[in-house]
Amino acid sequence: MSKIASDTAQGLKVGIIGGSIAGCTVAIELVRLGCDVTLFERTGEELKDRGAGIGVPPSVINTFITRDLVDADIPYFSSHTFTRIWRTAQERRYGYIAWDQPASLDLLNWGGLYRNLRKRVPDSVYRTGQRVVALHEQSGGRVAVEMANGETPEFDLVVCADGYASLGRRTLFPEVAIQYAGYVLWRGFIMEDELRGESHPLNSGVRCLGYPGGHGIFYFVPGPDGSLAPGNRLVNWGVYVPVADLAAFLTDKEGKVHEGSLPPGAMAIPTETALKQKAYERMPDYYAEITDKSPNTFAYAIYDCQVPAYRKGRICLAGDAGAFARPHSAAGALKGINDAIALSESLKTHTSVEEALTHWDKTQTATDNNLVRFGNQLGHALVKEIPDWSKMDAASMEKWFTSIITIQTEMFDANARKV
Ligand SMILES: Cc1cc2nc3c(=O)[nH]c(=O)nc-3n(C[C@H](O)[C@H](O)[C@H](O)COP(=O)(O)OP(=O)(O)OC[C@H]3O[C@@H](n4cnc5c(N)ncnc54)[C@H](O)[C@@H]3O)c2cc1C
Repeated sequence: MSKIASDTAQGLKVGIIGGSIAGCTVAIELVRLGCDVTLFERTGEELKDRGAGIGVPPSVINTFITRDLVDADIPYFSSHTFTRIWRTAQERRYGYIAWDQPASLDLLNWGGLYRNLRKRVPDSVYRTGQRVVALHEQSGGRVAVEMANGETPEFDLVVCADGYASLGRRTLFPEVAIQYAGYVLWRGFIMEDELRGESHPLNSGVRCLGYPGGHGIFYFVPGPDGSLAPGNRLVNWGVYVPVADLAAFLTDKEGKVHEGSLPPGAMAIPTETALKQKAYERMPDYYAEITDKSPNTFAYAIYDCQVPAYRKGRICLAGDAGAFARPHSAAGALKGINDAIALSESLKTHTSVEEALTHWDKTQTATDNNLVRFGNQLGHALVKEIPDWSKMDAASMEKWFTSIITIQTEMFDANARKV
C-alpha cells in the first residue's frame, strides 16, 4: 500500500518498544503516514511462535486485508459452531453435547499473523536485540529512550507495545498492578496426522469442554507452513486450570521461577504429568488424549489490568501494554491491532499531534478497559462459576449464555466498526 500523507504526522520521529503484534502494526501504520519510525525489540532473532491459535470475528480479517496489514490469501480455518460439551459416564469418549452454539470465528496461526505483519515493517525500522531499560521525558516534550547498550536516542513520540508486563505502563502508572485471576491457561498443539484413524469432531468447528472449575477449547489452525489440508493442520488447545500457588506452578524443570508464563518445554515434569492426569479426569477421553500426546506444553497465568489512560505526555501504550484482558473474549491480538489503527486514524484526522493523542487516549482507554471488565465477567461465568452443562439442553444453555454475553456482542460490533 502506498503512503497516505498526513500533515500532522509527517516527519514525526517515533520510537516503538516491542516488535510483536501491536508494535508491528503501529510501525506499519505510522511509516505509511510519513513518520520517521524506529522499533526496538529485545529479542535477538525473529519472534518464535507464542501459542498457536488466534481467533477473531470474520469481519476483522476482511478489514486487515483491505488495510493491507495481511495478505489476501492469509490461511485461516473458519468455524461456524462452538460446540459445548461435558464428560458424562455414558459419553466418556466424546462427551455429552449440551449445545451446538452458532458462532463464527476465523482461526489463524499466531505465527502466520505475526509474519504477515512483520514483513510489512521495513528492516531498516525493525531493530532486534535492543532492550529498552528506561524512558525519560525531556523538556520540550521529547522522550529519551534508554537502551541496555547505553544508547539514549530521543523521539517526538514513544509508543510502548511491550506486552502485558510493560515497562511503559510501569513508568507511566507505577501504581497500577496486574491482578492474577487465580487460574492459568495450559496450552499445547499437535499435528493433526498424529491423531490418525479417527474422524475428527474438530472438523465441525471449535469444541469447548466444560468441567467443574474451568473449560478447555480445542480447534484447528493452519499448520506451521500455512497448510489447511487435512492431516497438515495443527490441533490447537487451551485448558483453564485453577492454580493457587502460582510461584510453584511457574517453577520450571531447572528450578527457575518464571514470571507470568512457562515457555514450551520448560514445565516441570511432575506439573505436566499432573495436568495430563487431571485432563483424563475432567474431559472426554478423546480430548484428554490430545493433551497427553502434545509435546512441550506451555502455560500463561491469567491477569486483569485496567489503566487510567493510554498516554502521558508523549508516551503512549498499545496492545497488551495498555489494558490487559483475559483471553476469554478472544480479542487480545485484535485489541493491539485496533489500538494501532485508531492511533493512525487519529493522527490523520487531527491538525495537531496533541489533539490526535488526546482523542485517541480517551477512546482507547474507555474501549479497552471495557474489554478488561468483560473478560473478567466471562472468566467468572466460564471458569469460577461454570454450571454443570450435562444437566442442561440447548435452550437452557442459550439462556445462560445470553445472560453473560450481551456486552461482548456490543463490543465486537464496536471493534469491527472501528477497524
Ligand atoms: C493465554 C493467552 C491466550 C490468548 N488467546 C488469544 C486469542 O485466542 N485471540 C486473540 O486475539 N488473542 C489472544 N491472546 C492475546 C494475544 O496473543 C496477545 O494479546 C498479543 O500477542 C499481544 O500483542 P502485543 O504486541 O501487545 O504484546 P506481546 O505479543 O506480548 O509483545 C510484546 C513485545 O515487546 C517486547 N518487549 C517487551 N519488553 C521490551 C523491552 N523492555 N524492550 C524491547 N522490547 C521489549 C517483547 O519481546 C515482545 O516481542 C492470548 C493471550 C494469552 C496470554
